[in-house]
Amino acid sequence: MQNQFENALQQLDKAAKVINLEEEVLTQLRTPDRILQIKVPVVMDDGSLKNFEGYRVQHNNWAGPYKGGLRYFPSVDLNEVKALALWMTIKCSVAGIPMGGGKGGITVDPKKLSPGELERMTKSFARALAPNIGAQVDVAAPDVYTNGQIMAWILDEYTKITGKEELALITGKPMERGGSAGRDRATAMGAFYVLKALLEKINLNVFETAIAIQGFGNAGGVMAELCFADGIKVVATSDSSGGIYNEAGLNIAALMKHKQSTGAVTGFSGATSVTNEALLELPVTILIPAALENQITGANAERIKAKYIIELANGPVTPEGDEILAKNGIKSVPDVLANSGGVTVSYFEWEQNIKNEKWTEADVFVKLKEIIVPAFEDVWNKHLDKQIDLRTAAFARALEKLRSLWYNDVRKKFNN
Ligand code: GLU
Repeated sequence: MQNQFENALQQLDKAAKVINLEEEVLTQLRTPDRILQIKVPVVMDDGSLKNFEGYRVQHNNWAGPYKGGLRYFPSVDLNEVKALALWMTIKCSVAGIPMGGGKGGITVDPKKLSPGELERMTKSFARALAPNIGAQVDVAAPDVYTNGQIMAWILDEYTKITGKEELALITGKPMERGGSAGRDRATAMGAFYVLKALLEKINLNVFETAIAIQGFGNAGGVMAELCFADGIKVVATSDSSGGIYNEAGLNIAALMKHKQSTGAVTGFSGATSVTNEALLELPVTILIPAALENQITGANAERIKAKYIIELANGPVTPEGDEILAKNGIKSVPDVLANSGGVTVSYFEWEQNIKNEKWTEADVFVKLKEIIVPAFEDVWNKHLDKQIDLRTAAFARALEKLRSLWYNDVRKKFNN
């Protein structure tokens, strides 16, 4: 098993070198500010009491409150959460939003819990988190296998404790609980703007582009819809049941219906089946990993045929994978840029809550585009200027901004 945090540190160190980052700044960023390891007791439906293991890692808050999702997944562990928290700091800095980095989660397979157990577990977690979160302190959001309902439960429990509803406590809430228009589709929408900006850079028209998307959930599924509506051929996609492939392109609208009625993408007529691993190696123009970490590694990177990768998932390519891709001339738009649409619209939600405003979906997406396209340009230019890969360029730009915050503001606090 890859040590995710080691991977994240390697990426950090590599970029730090490129910009000659001062040792003291790097030292601050290599260690998270605070690690909460949380016992989450839950009364199960059969009356027994079970303790789950939860975490919240607050990595950095120089730019603003800690910000990042909570995931419920069986493989969640401290190293993973530490890596994801560090990536959130970098992501917010790349996007230039005034938020820091954090992440949390519970080691659990939520599909094995009843709705009542899921709610009790979430509220138990919220009670344990309560002293350390807040609209100006640490603002959580959905991530893998968590959703608006779970965010609403956390808000409910927090409100019960503090006696005052503070909507900006958490983002990714349902619309009727102060959520933002567009938040559900924001991660994919951001990646779609990035994809269009990339196609422009490489002079490729949409009709010459074939895409494979690993994952058909909130990120991958919406991305497939956006591509399909734009005339971009999505030739393959997958979910946990397996994958499907049609060289001529999949009808994503029909596939959505199929997934809604059967619960899986597999078995879709007019497509051949392909495993999640084989999907990564298909002859496509652009590969979009939109599921989990560690998909493209030292073991399979050599077989990737795509010319470009857009990382919609967090951490899908390991440093060994990166090295092989670079050697083979394959460029990967990193997660910290490509999937930053999610946290950017989370920030918009937070801002709307604080100002007591409601923006339309159209407004939200215009504002998102105004942030993510310049961020892409900025990273693209850095990678050309310095002749470095896009991930290192994204980290380098993030670190330059964090360095200014440190020297212009934060460092003073440790001086008296
Ligand atoms: N979980 C998402 C991410 O990894 C969104 C985080 C947020 O909205 O705070 O970027």
